[in-house]
Amino acid sequence: MSTHTPVIGVLALQGDVREHLGALAAADAEARTVRRPEELAEVDGLVIPGGESTTMSKLAALFGMLDPLRARVRDGMPVYGTCAGMIMLAEKILDPRSGQETIGGIDMIVRRNAFGRQNESFEAAVEVDGVEGGPVEGVFIRAPWVESVGAEVKVLASYGGHVVAVRQGNALATSFHPELTGDHRLHRLFTEMVRTETPGRVGRGAR
Ligand code: GLN
Repeated sequence: MSTHTPVIGVLALQGDVREHLGALAAADAEARTVRRPEELAEVDGLVIPGGESTTMSKLAALFGMLDPLRARVRDGMPVYGTCAGMIMLAEKILDPRSGQETIGGIDMIVRRNAFGRQNESFEAAVEVDGVEGGPVEGVFIRAPWVESVGAEVKVLASYGGHVVAVRQGNALATSFHPELTGDHRLHRLFTEMVRTETPGRVGRGAR
């Protein structure tokens, strides 16, 4: 197994960017913020954080990031979306605000705020396929769920009868926020996905 250090960006337009930077560093990635197309071009993989998907979508359009993001995801760059980030990776949202656009990348329909309002936020143990060592602590904050998936999408976790974690190729998404828990197993899984995708970069870790 290769052990180089992949460079993983966190889309830093809005949301809990700092927490993801910390979790990625703990998972042995070189983590940096990404706001501009030039910065996107420099990373091996990208995390799209939790926050507010409507605002994120508007800012992505404003910063000229929507098309570059779509292009890199289509080209197979590994990407991981949490909560609002999951919404950004959906091909379709059930209850979008007007003008809300997504990046796409996962053939799924996502329902925003499906688990209820801010004061109905909760934590629950979630068993995630591919994550060893017992369930992760799922932090659900105005969380979406996945209403339906296409044939190419692998369901990794469900909670309360609803799909809350999925993967399609190099795109990973969870309804919940592992970056808030201090449990870095999902960030490790993602870092490993990025490492596998960038074997040619062996040796970068020496920088
Ligand atoms: N409900 C939010 C949205 O629609 C997501 C909440 C979150 O990321 N914690 O974007």
